[in-house]
Amino acid sequence: MNRDEAERYLRQLAFSGIGQKGQGRLKKASAAIVGMGALGSAIANSLCRAGFGFLRLIDADVVEASNLQRQILYNEEDARLKRKKAVCAKEKLASTNSLVRLEAITEKLDAQNADKLLSGVDMVLDGLDNFDTRFVINEYCVKNAVPYIYGGVLADSGVSMNIMPGGPCLGCIVSSLVDAKSGPGPETKGVLNQIVAIIAAIQSVEAMKLAVKSRFLRRSLLSFSIWDFSFTEIEVEPRKDCFCQKSVDFMDQKF
Ligand SMILES: [Zn+2]
Repeated sequence: MNRDEAERYLRQLAFSGIGQKGQGRLKKASAAIVGMGALGSAIANSLCRAGFGFLRLIDADVVEASNLQRQILYNEEDARLKRKKAVCAKEKLASTNSLVRLEAITEKLDAQNADKLLSGVDMVLDGLDNFDTRFVINEYCVKNAVPYIYGGVLADSGVSMNIMPGGPCLGCIVSSLVDAKSGPGPETKGVLNQIVAIIAAIQSVEAMKLAVKSRFLRRSLLSFSIWDFSFTEIEVEPRKDCFCQKSVDFMDQKF
C-alpha cells in the first residue's frame, strides 16, 4: 500500500474488520451496481470512498428534479441538463476517489444484455425500483454463482438480503413476478431519503464484508420501517420448487 492510500483510508485501516489485509482485498474487488437512482447513488458513493477496485454503474435514465430529494450524487444542473445518471455518477465519483476504476453503462439491463453487462464482476448490487430487472439479475447471478445483494425501498420501509450461490434466491422470497409487481410503487407511496440511506448502508457494508471475506456476512432477510420504527429479520429457506435449487442440482451433476 502506498502513502496516498495509507492516508486516505486511515480510519478504515484502523477498523479491526478491515485493516491492511482487508483494504488490499477491497482494492481487488469489483461490483456492478444496477440502477443509479437513490439506492445506487448511495451505494456507489460508499463503495467508491471505501476503495473498491472497480465499479460498473448501470442506468439508462436521465436526472430529473424529482430525483434530487434522495439521489445524492446529482445536483440541480444535472437535472436542468437532463444528464445521464450513469455518466454523471461516474464523473462525481471520479472526483471523490481517483484510485477507483469506474465504468458508466447507459443501457437498460435486460435478459438479452445481462450476460454482457454483468460479466467479470465479483458481485452485483441492487439499486432498482422494479422486479422485472431484479429477476433478470437474480437469474444471471444464480446461474453464474455470483453473489447478488438485493435491496429495495418504498415509503418509509426497506428490505435487503444477500443472495448467495447455492442459497435461497429472490424467487424463494417472492414466489412470482405477478405478486411482486402487483403492489403500489414509489409513484403513489413515495420514498423517504432516510430509509434509502439505511438500506444502502446495509447493502454497502455487506459488499465490503463479501470483498474482505468476513465471517459476519449476513444470511437473513432484513426489513425496516423507520416512521413507526419496526425491524424484522427472517431466516429464508430455499424453496424446493424454485429454479435456484434446480440449478444447484444441475451444477452438482455437472461438476
Ligand atoms: Zn430460489
